[in-house]
Amino acid sequence: MKFVELAANLDRMEATSSRNELVRILSDVYRASSEDELGPITYLIQGRLAPFFEPVEIGLGPGLLLAAISTAYAAKKEDVVKLNKQTGDLGITAQRLAPASKRKSPTVVEAHARLYEIAKAGGAGSQQKKLDGFTSLLADLDATSAKHLVRITLGKMRLGIGDPTVLDALSFAKKGDRSLRPVLEAAYNRTSDLGLIARTLWERGETGLDALKVRAGHPLRPQLAERLPNPEAVIKKLGTVGVQPKYDGLRVQIHKDGDQVKLFSRNLESWTDAFPELVAAASKLKAKSVILDGEAIAYNPESEEYVPFQETTARRRKEGIQEFAEQVPLRAFVFDVMFRDGTDLTQLPYERRFAIAQELLQKSDTLVTAPLTKTDSAEELTRELLDNISRGLEGVVAKRLDSPYQAGARNFNWVKLKRNTSGQLNDTIDVVLLGYYRGKGKRAEFGAGALLAGVYDSDKDEFVTISKLGTGLSDQGWRDIHRRLTSLEVLEKPARVNSLFVPDAWLKPEIVAEVLADEITPSPRHTAGMSADRSGFALRFPRIVSLRTADKKPEDATSVREIREMFDQQRRR
Ligand code: AMP
Repeated sequence: MKFVELAANLDRMEATSSRNELVRILSDVYRASSEDELGPITYLIQGRLAPFFEPVEIGLGPGLLLAAISTAYAAKKEDVVKLNKQTGDLGITAQRLAPASKRKSPTVVEAHARLYEIAKAGGAGSQQKKLDGFTSLLADLDATSAKHLVRITLGKMRLGIGDPTVLDALSFAKKGDRSLRPVLEAAYNRTSDLGLIARTLWERGETGLDALKVRAGHPLRPQLAERLPNPEAVIKKLGTVGVQPKYDGLRVQIHKDGDQVKLFSRNLESWTDAFPELVAAASKLKAKSVILDGEAIAYNPESEEYVPFQETTARRRKEGIQEFAEQVPLRAFVFDVMFRDGTDLTQLPYERRFAIAQELLQKSDTLVTAPLTKTDSAEELTRELLDNISRGLEGVVAKRLDSPYQAGARNFNWVKLKRNTSGQLNDTIDVVLLGYYRGKGKRAEFGAGALLAGVYDSDKDEFVTISKLGTGLSDQGWRDIHRRLTSLEVLEKPARVNSLFVPDAWLKPEIVAEVLADEITPSPRHTAGMSADRSGFALRFPRIVSLRTADKKPEDATSVREIREMFDQQRRR
């Protein structure tokens, strides 16, 4: 496939506001692809060159791209800057200046390989090498191709293709329907690599997908926790449980493969460079290969206190990593082990996995197992919950001792219990900002008066609305958020957004906010959980608690299924 053909399809995807249509176009692209094109296409359409967990970045910012556009199309730099002010989109700027068509277009594989080479350029003079490589690639492209190449390079694709859309498109391309989705999804949960999955399906079919196993160095999608209203409900549903403190830090997956250690965040971003003390501790472990799951939290050795979430996340900044590692070192409370010395442990019962983790971590002060108490009594579980809350922790997580590690699943193998303020929901909800209203009076001065918020429907890969938010931010908070919102504004409703409301401005779904509400109520106006015979759900008295941009992608927001369960639970209370 030529890059120009892919670009034409990207244009078609950009033009549609229907998700079914998005799936259809993408499945046509897959059908027309050969095996070696599947990987590159899968990464490129998501604005990447490699799976999300591999830190391969092209490393050319807007300034250098302007320079490349100017050289490639022999336009004066000032003119390019001026045009870019008008268009407000470097992709369109490139499109305007590039020739409408070219006799020869590079293939998708070639364009991907050339971008990869640019990404890999390092050392002295690497910026010039990147710039030269990119300029010559741009010079080979027609207008539409140039637009998409620039957007890919900036990681700013406007298509909003989420992982479920890719999985659906692969299934449609092979079977003409969605029937392969469960097999594809299971393989995705174990490997987190959509390109690998596409290639495997084409080369080795469904059995090939089943044979894709957990591997050290490749993150699994994390197991997640369900909610139940109180300790009694937990014991009733799970029986004997293992209870652990719930730490308010950062989820971290620790991989050791021979001499190499890698760290991944909850959404599978590479965090290896940010936490050298965890890397050092993991490399000392007595195992050839291992995958651990845990919660990292900053610890102040002088006051012997754990540091709150916000300060732990500050550690992700690029500067001063070493200083931080010395002054406020991290500790990881490890609660699971999924792989050791070449063996996949995910199917072992939790109690066995935990014992293996304990044995592995005996000698480490930095990687410590989270204490586990076994109980089948609601009273004891209540005591543990209150005790942990009084020690400043978030609550507890109760785990079924005989459960496997189910990558990517949120189910009752793990249940979180947090402080329960009576009359309110006992947990916050993570919403995605989908649009905003400019506001009246004083709020209008801030630029934004209310936010349209949604949750995620993972079956449909859609964001559906659940609330309008107007409280919880200070005056300064509104000003700050407005600044961030403007960079995410899009002219039309994005294809994956399903809403009956039309806000003053639509947003690319990206910012996740943590919201507290009193209750979930049925609503004829919100699309969360709405179907032909059922009304949607809304939040009663919502208020913003925090903006969780550090560790959550929009797809990690609370799901419609969770909202429905929370609604059912509050009725039972
Ligand atoms: P939530 O993010 O509210 O859905 O809660 C689940 C999160 O709690 C997990 O993703 C972990 O980051 C965190 N967590 C803290 N302590 C534990 C623990 N002992 N077991 C499992 N998860 C934990």
